[in-house]
Amino acid sequence: MRRHLIPRLYFLTVVLLIAGKSAGQSHLDQDIAQALQSIRPEALRADLEFLADDALEGRATGSRGYDLAAKYVRARFQAEGLVSGTKDGKYFQNVTLRRTEVEPSASSLAFEAKGKTTNLTYNKDFILMDTHLHTTGSVSAPAVFAGYGVTAPELGYDDYAGINAKGKIVVVLFFEAPASFPGTERAYYMDSQTKREIALAHGAVGIVGISTPQIETKFPWEFMLREARIGYNSMRWLDSNHQPFGLDAQIKATALLSRSGAEALFAGERHSLQEAFDTASSGRPNPFPLEKTISISYRTQHTPVNSVNVVGIVPGSDPMLRNEYVVFTAHLDHLGLGPAVDGDEIYNGALDNGAGSSILLEVSSFFASLGARPRRSIAFVALTGEEQMLLGSEYFARNSPLDGAIVADINVDGGAFFFPVKDVTALGQEHSSLGEVTKRAARDAGFEISPDYFPDEGSFVRSDQYSFVQTGVPSLYIDLGFKTDKPGVDPLAAMKKWLVTTYHSPKDDTSQPFDYETSARFARFAALVAYYTANDARRPVWNPGDFFGNKFCKENANCSHAR
Ligand SMILES: [Zn+2]
Repeated sequence: MRRHLIPRLYFLTVVLLIAGKSAGQSHLDQDIAQALQSIRPEALRADLEFLADDALEGRATGSRGYDLAAKYVRARFQAEGLVSGTKDGKYFQNVTLRRTEVEPSASSLAFEAKGKTTNLTYNKDFILMDTHLHTTGSVSAPAVFAGYGVTAPELGYDDYAGINAKGKIVVVLFFEAPASFPGTERAYYMDSQTKREIALAHGAVGIVGISTPQIETKFPWEFMLREARIGYNSMRWLDSNHQPFGLDAQIKATALLSRSGAEALFAGERHSLQEAFDTASSGRPNPFPLEKTISISYRTQHTPVNSVNVVGIVPGSDPMLRNEYVVFTAHLDHLGLGPAVDGDEIYNGALDNGAGSSILLEVSSFFASLGARPRRSIAFVALTGEEQMLLGSEYFARNSPLDGAIVADINVDGGAFFFPVKDVTALGQEHSSLGEVTKRAARDAGFEISPDYFPDEGSFVRSDQYSFVQTGVPSLYIDLGFKTDKPGVDPLAAMKKWLVTTYHSPKDDTSQPFDYETSARFARFAALVAYYTANDARRPVWNPGDFFGNKFCKENANCSHAR
């Protein structure tokens, strides 16, 4: 019983806050406050228990389980009265993908120095990545250690300054960027696609990634192997020329080395692997040409995969602004079936991201039921292919089926946990005018806003909002925070443990003690962020001189960049 008191009191507070804010808007705001009641913890639980049920077998992109989840979302959109976001009226945006599977027995990585050849063993010493362009390939070139593989002129940093990477295979520290970089900029430079583009610009013909001891504590080799087996880097979407997006043929091979592989690579070189790690952790890695030549060859199986993004629209009320779209996203896919853990092979993906999908459904229902709709249209998009590196969102952002400009993306990947918390996070808020909107929504929903709890994780580039950022669209990744008044619990410590024991494993299922009341409060906050963004007279803009605005606005003719 006592659990029910808190949301009631909380809700009353929202009504009072909203009603008391401005006399001119109080009627509309009363409507919102009323409608927010429709977002109920019981509904979130019901959605999640269906989406994360064993019957859906972990909703892997291209699987029957994913297709069932997509049909469930579509049925809900139809029942609630959302308009199809695709012109054929079917709500499904088709995404054509290519799955690749490396054949270890027909693939090799070898080093050669002073006439001596060292052959590495697939899975034990290395794995290959990005083999989506061709079914066979090979490259042989001198190796050069390029530190983090980062060229960041705006931050006065360049790992490539003292080396020549042209025609070489660059060896870079993967999943990392200098710790001195500010948060989301650091996330940008950690991203393997960014490292690939930088290597390309410097003329490299191959990339070999190595992990520092710090990264190994986060992503142990065994974890990387399991990730690879359950789909990491296994797919790309195909463009209208049937080419995998984002890959340039100049880079002929990409490999990731385990510690044993990295030690073999640095053996007998001018600087040891330990020195490479030490100089990196001091903030200034010491790039240098290696003595060795690296040879990589591979054979890989390509199979076509079809999947869908599910797109439903709540049309805006303003005839001038209704062809501008606020996009609300959550990835519907997860990892599917994989290596069994404690006898369970179904990677249900409850928190990741059945939870966010449930929030998307309940928020869409809130907007569909509103008497007075916001001025702009809102597109709700349940995305495919997130676990394969943001594929569904990348496809959507670059091939939008909407009949107007995308002006913002609000993404939920999570939005649930096990404790009552009083704060939220909003990654990206410091980059655009969405920061103001977020503050208002948090205040009205009774939350504090906290900074990123995991600044080392690069979270801002690791979920679907980043696909929109890359096309110049101001975006947010909103989630629950970890501050609580409940005595005797430490939500942040619990999350850190969860990331090690449960993240991307079959244990992320609905037997976990989700606090659905808190998720419902979070969903109301998410709804308010979308509402205020869609109703604001001013279209979202990047802050003047913003890093992401500067980087990506040029790619989008509709880009809003404050000058
Ligand atoms: Zn995930």
